Amino acid sequence: MALLPILHLPDPRLRRKARKVQTIDVSVQRLIDDMVDTMHDAHGVGLAATQVGVPQRVCVIEPPEGELLVLINPQIIERQGARKIPEGCLSLPGYQANVKRAEVVKAKALDREGKEVRVKADGLVAQALEHEVDHLDGIMYVDRLESLDELYEIKPEEGEQPEEAIEAGRGSNA
Ligand code: ZN
Repeated sequence: MALLPILHLPDPRLRRKARKVQTIDVSVQRLIDDMVDTMHDAHGVGLAATQVGVPQRVCVIEPPEGELLVLINPQIIERQGARKIPEGCLSLPGYQANVKRAEVVKAKALDREGKEVRVKADGLVAQALEHEVDHLDGIMYVDRLESLDELYEIKPEEGEQPEEAIEAGRGSNA
């Protein structure tokens, strides 16, 4: 098990567009394992390789009591509906904002064996898919706000997190 340091804004590496993975080799497998460990340790719902300084199109998503998704070269192929929901990010600890996201998201990707997988998600997983694919393009959720005034501080030690706060850390300030 290896924990990777999570980059925080304004680290410029968060703004790089990640490259497509060409070969799923042992280094990609190790990256995935370390990203899963890092996500668990930070109590996050998702993590993109961009956030650990690796500019490759890999992300992991795991909602509480849900299934782990390992997505290589993920692409969102369809979005349906719209909603505004609270969102946070491990790369901007201590803050959240209400972000406009789709209600249903369909994506395709490769799994860790290189097999093509299609995911249709709503709720937290749909939100995480949009959030993590954004990271791979160098986009942070704050870019989707009309104004940074929409950010509000969260103090995890003082109360419960909204359930659907992506990466906000379910009580942790990672
Ligand atoms: Zn994030």
